[in-house]
Amino acid sequence: MLKKKVALLMGSDSDFPSLKGCIKILKDFGVDFELHIISAHRTPRKAAEFSENAIKNGFSVIIAAAGKAAHLAGVIAAHTILPVIGIPIKSSTLDGLDALLSTVQMPKGVPVATVAIDGGENAALLAIQILAISDSDLAKKLTVYKETMANEINKKDLELQREVEQIWKMKGNNSMKKMEQIYEGKAKKVFKTDDLQLFIVDYKDDATAFNGEKKGTIEGKGIINNKVTNHLMKMLELKGIPTHFVKELSERETLVKKVKIIPIEVIVRNIAAGSLSKRLGIPEGTKMKSTVLEFCYKDDALGDPMINDYHIFAMDLATKQELELIADYSFKINKYLSEYLKDLQIELIDFKLEYGKTDDGEIILADEISPDTCRFWDSVTKEKLDKDRFRRDLGNVEGAYQEIMKRLLGK
Ligand code: ADP
Ligand code: MG
Repeated sequence: MLKKKVALLMGSDSDFPSLKGCIKILKDFGVDFELHIISAHRTPRKAAEFSENAIKNGFSVIIAAAGKAAHLAGVIAAHTILPVIGIPIKSSTLDGLDALLSTVQMPKGVPVATVAIDGGENAALLAIQILAISDSDLAKKLTVYKETMANEINKKDLELQREVEQIWKMKGNNSMKKMEQIYEGKAKKVFKTDDLQLFIVDYKDDATAFNGEKKGTIEGKGIINNKVTNHLMKMLELKGIPTHFVKELSERETLVKKVKIIPIEVIVRNIAAGSLSKRLGIPEGTKMKSTVLEFCYKDDALGDPMINDYHIFAMDLATKQELELIADYSFKINKYLSEYLKDLQIELIDFKLEYGKTDDGEIILADEISPDTCRFWDSVTKEKLDKDRFRRDLGNVEGAYQEIMKRLLGK
């Protein structure tokens, strides 16, 4: 529609560099605009004519940028009933204060909406906000813009909170003391720390499969699983999934929130593989119509048998509300991980999650998210990039783990 146009006027070509942000925003929002050099002092007639004809020429808002004795916006506003936004441009002598006052101190009856010195971006946004009053598409874009901005601030706030938390946890001296080992699992060792709420997990290179029947070592796996898990948990945390991650301490060690592990292995499946294919006769690689959620009772001696929600309630492993929360988190994690990995040309086939309860009773994601606990396939070649290479003796096990780390962390 013609009537959507913004006129972006500048008093001098030297103002152009200060307007790049303004132009970028107008372009990003897909707003049609024209750019002209018009001087209130050197081309006064052109300024008056442009302004008088602006409505006729299809403009809806005029942005005028000028430096020093910045009269452009005021002169333009004098000749039109369109909203005029003034951008005071910073100059070398008075740092833009001259332009600010010249633009903002308009006499009664002739308003100029003045933005900050060199505030081109805000001038563009204000113009867009004016247009959006009668343009629902633009209004939607503005809402998305605001949400993105808020998300970025929230992300920074979260990072800050984590830093602050660290300062508290480290008791100011930045040295978390690793105390006695309390557990050694198949892939990690767990240590107490001098903080009752925190554990250190230490990732090993040991690999097991088929409930411990097959044993081996995958060189460098501990380092990769530590880094990949932390990378993904940080990402999930930013999306609102609470996790046990606190801080990476070294290549293999991470400080985590101590939890009482809920002895349920939560398995999420997008594509048939492994035990599901065997159990149900669905060929590996078949995309299922919807996501499958499975629960197993986490007990090595019993071989982690599959259970359902009735078992879970009957065995008092979790309440209905807790299980609902766990299921909700798991589906969300599936969505966030799948989307994230898709961009890295990795297909998320299935994965296993463990949750735990903190002393405060909060349920958070614990344990790990790594090629040990997920099936990752290259989206194009369908090459397996996970522990299946070890389970099935497919070779290049180390290479697959390294490839995952490279795609996720760029190294
Ligand atoms: P497993 O042999 O049971 O798979 P792992 O070697 O993978 O064990 O990990 C060691 C143990 O640490 C696991 O039993 C896991 O449930 C537990 N664990 C993971 N995260 C936490 C945590 N934040 N607090 C307490 N225990 C945890
Ligand atoms: Mg494990």
